[in-house]
Formats: sequence, structure tokens, C-alpha cells
Amino acid sequence: MNNNDIYVIYGDKGKEMVKQLLSAIKIEEEIDKTDLIGLKPNLVVAKKPESGATTSTDMIIGIIEYLKERGYNKLIILEGSWVGDSTQEAFKVCGYDKISQKYNVPLFDTKRDHYRPYDADGMSINVCDKAMEVDYLINLPVLKGHCQTSITCALKNMKGCIPDKEKRRFHTMGLHKPIAYLNKIIRPSITIVDGLIGDLDFEEGGNPVEMNRIIAGKDPVLVDAYAAELMGYDPHDIGYIKIAESIGVGNADLSKANIAELNSNTAGVRRFTDAGNKARYLAKWVEEKDACSACYGSLIHALARLDEQGLLKRLDQKVCIGQGFKGQSVDGIGVGTCARGCGQWVKGCPPKAKDILDFLKKCITD
Ligand code: SF4
Repeated sequence: MNNNDIYVIYGDKGKEMVKQLLSAIKIEEEIDKTDLIGLKPNLVVAKKPESGATTSTDMIIGIIEYLKERGYNKLIILEGSWVGDSTQEAFKVCGYDKISQKYNVPLFDTKRDHYRPYDADGMSINVCDKAMEVDYLINLPVLKGHCQTSITCALKNMKGCIPDKEKRRFHTMGLHKPIAYLNKIIRPSITIVDGLIGDLDFEEGGNPVEMNRIIAGKDPVLVDAYAAELMGYDPHDIGYIKIAESIGVGNADLSKANIAELNSNTAGVRRFTDAGNKARYLAKWVEEKDACSACYGSLIHALARLDEQGLLKRLDQKVCIGQGFKGQSVDGIGVGTCARGCGQWVKGCPPKAKDILDFLKKCITD
């Protein structure tokens, strides 16, 4: 796998999907049998993955089984929840303690670790010892919105590898710069994004959005640029992506990326998660008939961005979406190939939120 490669797989069966993904990447060709492999999920709070806050246990199980079946037995799961929450509690609530017992993979709480300072282009940052000891680090963030940094994905997930004291200091520094610089010190060997269920606008979940996909890449800046567009942002509008690119952590230019989709969107009609208040409010602008989660989630992200920009109330019609619109001629606007019978529609199966957002803004201003 090269730095400018991004792999995407669609579906809702995290374990099988991630195994297919790893086999396409041939991850085993990059790891020695003696390497210590660290799995770094996002367990920011003690909430189940269905809440949109934490990394899917199915994905973790899939990765462990894939590696163990190939003779890799030196695995650990390492994480430190956010300040004020207990990692131990998160391991328990999210089901990681059971995974640890069943597969004999130790859980490591970075809050309890020793740490030391490292220099990143003149910025000193304390990093936990275990994160630096790992030979092959698998970064496993969740595709989520964030109230201060707009998105949280690959680059920001490394914050779980620093002590609480340093997490507090990051907030006083405005998050963007220290997050970017931290990634000069710790570079994951690969990032595998849980895009099955993420959150609309908060890292602690509460407005889960099914996006039904897993995304993998070696360059965390490129992965975050791709994630930003999936959620309706221009990558360079996210401060830490821009800074990380400028200091040489990676490349945010998606036009140079090789994006390999391993399947088409196969998840079928969306499952209904407990949508939070915000997602329910945004759904008032949606005319849905049998939409896939991957498509519906993109539309919800786009509507959220439109709302943040103060434009949603100017959208005076509902947006048609879903397989139920296939072959129908509709006088209105639509999202996704199924809605091509609408007067105006956004291409894609599923389309990105960024493309939907640009389309909706044009509909409003035309
Ligand atoms: S365009 Fe249709 S088939 Fe494709 S993701 Fe959207 S709803 Fe599903």
C-alpha cells in the first residue's frame, strides 16, 4: 500500500469487511512476526459504538482474527479516554474487556503509563511510552464531527496516546496546532477508519449517523482530507489538516489520491439507529424511500453543514433520496443515482456530503 492510496469498503458487517480490506491491502507483508502490534481505537467515553462515539468491536475482532490466523500474536489494544472519563470503564462498556479475554490481547490504559517529552519541530509534547514502543501502530478512529475542530478522525485520534496533563494543555493551545505537531512524533503504520456509525457533530456521540463504510490509508492527512469531504467540509477548512500538511506530516491533495472502492454500496436499505434530536430535525428536509445508510448519512451531514452556515432554512423543498425513487420521474431535487429522475440531482452511489452541500447551496442561490 502506498501513501497516496485510500481503500474503501461499504457494508454494515464490520468484521467481514475489515478482513476483506486487510486482505486486499496485504497488511501482513508490512509486519514482522516479532513486531509488537498496537491497536489504537477511539474510546473517548464509555459509550457503546452504536452511540456513534467509539470504535466498532466487530472491526477490532476482525483485525485480531485476521492477524492471529496469520501467526501474529504480539498484539495490544491501547487507549486513554478523554480527561474526566475512565478508560477502564470504556473498555468494559464498549465490550473490549471480553475481546481481550477471548483473544488473549492485553488492554493498555495510556492514562496509567509513564511518558516523556519529544520534540516536534520545536514544540515539546509528552507522549506515553507504550505508544512509542509499538512497532506497528494501527490507528482506528471513528468518522465523527467535533464541536471545536469540525471533524475528528485519523490525526486527532493520536490524542489518546498522550497523558491527561498534555490533553489539557492541548485545549489551551487551541487543539489544531498541537494535534498536527503530535503527528510528527507518532505516525501510525496504517489508519483504518470506522465509518460504520459515527456522529454528526460531537466526539462523545449522541447523534449517530450510519455511514456504512470502512476506510483505510497510510497517510493520516490524506485519510482526514477524505473524511472531511465525506462530512461536507473542504479539507483545508480544518485547521489541523492544513497545519499537518504544511509541516510535512502528509498530503491533503485528494486529486492525487488513488481511491480504490472494493465493492459498491451493498448495505441495502438503512437500519434505523436511534437518531438524536439534531438528526431528527434535519430529517424534516428529507423525502426518503428506502435509502441506503451510506447515502442517507451523507445527506444528513450535508444538511448539518448547511444549517451551520445559516442556509438550511432557505431550502424550501425536501430532498428526495432512496431506492424507492429508482425509475421515477419527480419534480424536485434528489441525491444519489437512484434519484436521477428528479429535475436536479447529485451523482454518486453514494455521493459525498461535500458534493451534496455544494449542490444544495446552488439550489438555494439559483
Ligand atoms: S444512490 Fe441509491 S443505491 Fe446508491 S447509495 Fe444512494 S440510495 Fe443506495
